[in-house]
Amino acid sequence: MSERILIVEDEPSLQETLVYSLKKEGYVTEAVGDGRSALESARRMKPDLIVLDIMLPEMDGFEVARILRREMTTSILMLTARDDEIDRVVGLEVGADDYLTKPFSMRELLARVKAQLRRTRLLREEMGQTGNTEPKHETLKFENLTVNLTRREVTLDNSPIQLKPKEYELLLFLAEHRGQMLSREFILERVWGWGYIGDSRTVDVHIRWLRQKIEKDPANPVRIVTVRGGGYRFEG
Ligand code: CA
Repeated sequence: MSERILIVEDEPSLQETLVYSLKKEGYVTEAVGDGRSALESARRMKPDLIVLDIMLPEMDGFEVARILRREMTTSILMLTARDDEIDRVVGLEVGADDYLTKPFSMRELLARVKAQLRRTRLLREEMGQTGNTEPKHETLKFENLTVNLTRREVTLDNSPIQLKPKEYELLLFLAEHRGQMLSREFILERVWGWGYIGDSRTVDVHIRWLRQKIEKDPANPVRIVTVRGGGYRFEG
């Protein structure tokens, strides 16, 4: 079955170009031009990926992402108007998976789209969600830290901790590779789906956020340790 992409872009010519290019690649697309319609379409269509502009009428892309993140795990590729660090960080905080700065080439967009969809497929396979809805293990336990895979819930000393969607995915990925040195690039590819082009600072930012939530002393981490010149290792 063709993968479905929801395009949210209010500029008619860019919207048209996006639809044309993605259809040509064989994707099923739907396009809307404002935030409210984006929510409606996403709920009805349940797309595999959402290409989401930030500056939109009615409700901006950040708000759309924030709301949708509570309802679905669909990948979100954000389009930002300027190469603005703030936009990028806010985008990642509200749960965007990747971002692209305007102007971009269609070739670049297609590469990002493919990387995201590939990541989603890998993740589904790893989670055993292909037809079989039961995850491989129900819970992962590391002393006082528990990850409940069925409920997507993380507890520390038996109290639930609030993780952003990407923090949860990152923790899960680290936990599943306990004791292994994971390079930033590898983490980026598997958790964000960037691989070839990604910005490894994104990994560092999320590791920092995670440490603040699961480490006793985030400045001297013992669960997620930094491997010099390499990446990170989850010790449990
Ligand atoms: Ca716009």
